[in-house]
Amino acid sequence: MSAASSRSAFVAVLGAPNAGKSTLINRLVGTKVSIVSPKAQTTRTRVLGIVRQGAAQIVFIDTPGIFKPRRRLDRAMVASAWEGARNSDVIILLVDSDIWIRKGLDRDTKKIIAGLRERKSEAILVLNKIDKADKEKLLPMADELNSEGLFSTVFMISATSAIRNDGVGDLMAHLAARAPEGPWHFPEDQVSDQPERFIAAEITREQLYHQLRQELPYATHVETEKWEDRKDGSIRIDQVIFVEKQSQKGIVLGKRGVRIKSIGEKARRELEDLFGCRVHLFLFVKVRGDWSEDPARYRDLGLDFNA
Ligand code: GDP
Ligand code: MG
Repeated sequence: MSAASSRSAFVAVLGAPNAGKSTLINRLVGTKVSIVSPKAQTTRTRVLGIVRQGAAQIVFIDTPGIFKPRRRLDRAMVASAWEGARNSDVIILLVDSDIWIRKGLDRDTKKIIAGLRERKSEAILVLNKIDKADKEKLLPMADELNSEGLFSTVFMISATSAIRNDGVGDLMAHLAARAPEGPWHFPEDQVSDQPERFIAAEITREQLYHQLRQELPYATHVETEKWEDRKDGSIRIDQVIFVEKQSQKGIVLGKRGVRIKSIGEKARRELEDLFGCRVHLFLFVKVRGDWSEDPARYRDLGLDFNA
C-alpha cells in the first residue's frame, strides 16, 4: 500500500465494564485479541486490534473499562484507558443499550461522558446489544444524548451478531471512510501488538473468569513462563497462575485437580484454535500474596503502578 493512497486511524473504544468492547474488537479483527467474560473488568490492559478495510488500516485500542477506581490495579486501568483515548484519532463510546433502557444511564458511562466533555473530545456513540434491547425506546434516548453535541454520529449495533442487520459493518465502513490519509502503522497481516506469550496467558485467564466463582478471578494473575516450539510443529507452553492466598490455590486446583484440569483443557483447545497447531499446556498454581502491589507486574501489563 503506497503512502499516497493509504489511510490509517487509531480508534479508542471506551465504555463501562461489560459494554462489549472486547467482543466488538474481536469480532472486527476476526480473531481473539482480547478476552471476554460476563464478569466486569476482565480486560486489564490496553490491547490493540488491527483491522484492514480497503485502503484503511484501523487500529482499535481496547481499553480496560472506565469505572470508579478502588484498588491500585483499578487506578492503573482507568489511567490506561484515558491514555488510550488521548492517543487516538477517533473515540468510540460503547454503551450497553439494554441496561441503559432498563436502568437508565449507568454511573460509569456518565463518568466517561463527563470526562469527554472536560477534554473537549468528540466521540462516536455506539449503542451495543441491540439484539437484547427494546428498539422503540432506543431512538428517542439516543436523540436525547446526542443533543448534547458531544457525538458526531450514533450507531446501533450488536457485537455478538445475534441479529441480521447488526450494524457492525456500517460502523466499520464509517471508520474506514473517516480515517485520515497516512501510512499504515503495522504490517498488513498483523492483528495485534500483543506478543503471543501474553495472549496465551490471557486465554488461560479468561478461563479463570469463566470457571471460578465471584471475586476469585480478580485475585489471580497468569504468566507464561516457558514457550517451546517443538520440532513436530506443536507448542509446549508452561504457565503459572498466581493467587494471593493458600486457600485460593485449593479452589483453583479443585477436588483431585478437576478444576485446574478443566481450565487447562478449555484453554488448550482455544490455544490450538488460535495458533493452528497442537498445544501442550502445563499449568502451575503458586501463592504470591503481593502480586497486585508489585510494580514489576504492572510493568509487564503496560500499566502505570503510580497512576
Ligand atoms: P467489555 O468489558 O466492554 O470488554 O465487555 P465484553 O466484551 O467482555 O462483553 C461483556 C459481556 O457482554 C459478554 O458476556 C459478551 O458476550 C456480552 N456481549 C457483548 N456484546 C453483546 C451484544 O451485542 N449482544 C449481547 N446479547 N451480548 C453481548
Ligand atoms: Mg474488555
